[in-house]
Amino acid sequence: MAENKTVSIIYTGGTLGMRPSEKGYVPASDLDGLLRERLPELGLGALPRYELTEYEHPLESSNATPRHWYELADRIRDRGEAFDGFVVIHGTDTLTYTSSALSFLLSGFGRPVVVTGAQIPLYEVRSDASGNLIGAMQAIATGKLHDVSVCFGRYLLRGNRSTKVKSTELDAFESPNHPPVAEIGTDFQFNEVNALPPPPGVLAKPPSYRDCNIAVLPIYPGMPEGVIDAIVGAGAAGIVLRCYGVGTAPTADEDFLAALHRACDAGVVVVAVSQCLEGRVTLARYAAGSALADVGVVSGFDMTTEAAFAKLHALFALGLDAGAVAGLMQENLRGELTPA
Ligand code: ASP
Repeated sequence: MAENKTVSIIYTGGTLGMRPSEKGYVPASDLDGLLRERLPELGLGALPRYELTEYEHPLESSNATPRHWYELADRIRDRGEAFDGFVVIHGTDTLTYTSSALSFLLSGFGRPVVVTGAQIPLYEVRSDASGNLIGAMQAIATGKLHDVSVCFGRYLLRGNRSTKVKSTELDAFESPNHPPVAEIGTDFQFNEVNALPPPPGVLAKPPSYRDCNIAVLPIYPGMPEGVIDAIVGAGAAGIVLRCYGVGTAPTADEDFLAALHRACDAGVVVVAVSQCLEGRVTLARYAAGSALADVGVVSGFDMTTEAAFAKLHALFALGLDAGAVAGLMQENLRGELTPA
């Protein structure tokens, strides 16, 4: 029953609570006042009770750094006992980096965390904020979630499978390689098979923030090898290499391949994901992919860029060495990938 549950709403910032300024929308404080004015039903019995915590300086999420994920995870973990679930209000631009990261940082936490936001501020008359926020609260009230999800528009999605696919439409997120956990129409159509497979692996302890340089690098035609050397020279511990298709790159370019080889030999964990939204990386399918594996690049299978990026962070934050990180990047820890 919704009324027996209590949800912690954490307002980190984002469009949902933004106000207009001369330079465009800016993050704004006092979401509490705005909710009371624009969304009084949030306090009524049909939804879980809630307690709102607002960041002192709400974020434009494009300014979020990995440190933000760890602080947020700590806040959630510290309040774990007192609440049946958590709704995180977040900017949409980096929402899925955060939802992916939380899935690793809150490994074993067990309580539902639903990340949401809006494309149109609650302040505006035709906002998607109320539907998204109420959807997130109702999703928790079902008692069917035990992990990190994204609630947005018509979908409830697994947090570490989600990605922002539309910059202006209200159904901004999809999880192209994993079916929605629920479709939200007149009702929640849960597909419980997609909800919560028991995690096959568990991170040993909650990692604390560690300053760690992870790069995201798209392959593009004519890419000079100096780009890879520069990233390694800047101290990268890992690279999410966004390859073509099923995992190919210009491996006929010996200098390019040699640069990747140097990176892997230097202990940089290079993980291949696809530039395609749907499908998976199979490095052995083409010689242009096998050559990547031969120099030490590991497959990210069907992980999103966000999941691979956040997972590298979380694993290095545990203090694991490059070999162990490379091994775990190919294992399904929190439902983020479909193994071979
Ligand atoms: N730029 C905003 C942000 O990510 C976009 C949004 O929230 O929709 O904070």
